[in-house]
Amino acid sequence: MARVLRVARSSSLFSFGSRSYSAEASHVSSPPPPFLGARRDVTKERNVQWVFLGCPGVGKGTYASRLSSLLGVPHIATGDLVRDALASSGPLSQQLSEIVNQGKLVSDEIIVNLLSKRLEAGEAKGESGFILDGFPRTMRQAEILGDVTDIDLVVNLKLPEEVLVDKCLGRRTCNQCGKGFNIAHINLKGENGKPGISMDPLLPPPQCMSKLITRADDTEEVVKARLRIYNETSQPLEEYYRSKGKLMEFDLPGGIPESWPRLLEALRLDDYEEKQSAAA
Ligand SMILES: [Zn+2]
Repeated sequence: MARVLRVARSSSLFSFGSRSYSAEASHVSSPPPPFLGARRDVTKERNVQWVFLGCPGVGKGTYASRLSSLLGVPHIATGDLVRDALASSGPLSQQLSEIVNQGKLVSDEIIVNLLSKRLEAGEAKGESGFILDGFPRTMRQAEILGDVTDIDLVVNLKLPEEVLVDKCLGRRTCNQCGKGFNIAHINLKGENGKPGISMDPLLPPPQCMSKLITRADDTEEVVKARLRIYNETSQPLEEYYRSKGKLMEFDLPGGIPESWPRLLEALRLDDYEEKQSAAA
C-alpha cells in the first residue's frame, strides 16, 4: 500500500495553481488540464484515472507501464484484454477467435465490455484508479467510456512522423530468444524553434546479432499507412478531450532517458518519484 498514491481532490501534489505550467515545460503545448481538483463535490479519495494516447511506435505502453508502477495503479492495455479473453474459455473467447480469425476488427461493444469487466474485477480486489493504454481508440469508445467512468486526464504522446517511421523501420526481433531491439540511430536536428530529437539504438548482445529478423509489416509504406489511419481516427478523439480541457499534449524530447523525467515534470510527479525512491 505504501506505493499507492491517494489523490485527495484538494491534493496540492496535483495543484497547477502555484506554478506556471507552460513556462516551465516548453515541450508541453497545451494549457494545464484541470484534471484533478476540479470537481470539489467528490469527497471520496481515489487514484488517478488516466488515458494514454499516441501513434503506434511512440512507446506509450512503456510510459503507461512505468507510470502505473510509480502510482500503484493498474496499467490496462486493450491488446492484453483481448489476448486474455482469447486464452480463456467460454462463449466470448469463441466469439472473439471467430472475429480475429476472419481478420475483422473487434467491435467497440466487445472492447468496452472487456474493459468494464476488468475494471469491476479490479475494484472488487481493492484496486483504485487506472492508466488505459490503447483505449479509447474511437469517438464511440470515448463516449461509452465517459458513461462508464470519469477520466481525469488524457496524455497524448507525440513524436515527429519521420522519427516514428525510422523507429519502426529499426525494429528487430531475435528469432532465437524472442527479445526485441531497435537498431535505429535517431538524430533529428532542431529547426523552426523545435528542439532536435536524438535516440540511441537498443542494440542486441553479440549472441543475438546474427539472428535478427524484421517484422514483415515494418516497411516504410505500411508504417506510413498505419500512421495515416491512426491520425484520421485519433483527431476527433483528441478534439473531444481537448474541448473538455482534459488533453495534455506531450512532445517526447527523445528516448526514455530524456523523456521520462520531463514527462514526470509535466505531470507534476517529479517530486513524487524522488520521495518514492527516498522511501524505498
Ligand atoms: Zn537472442
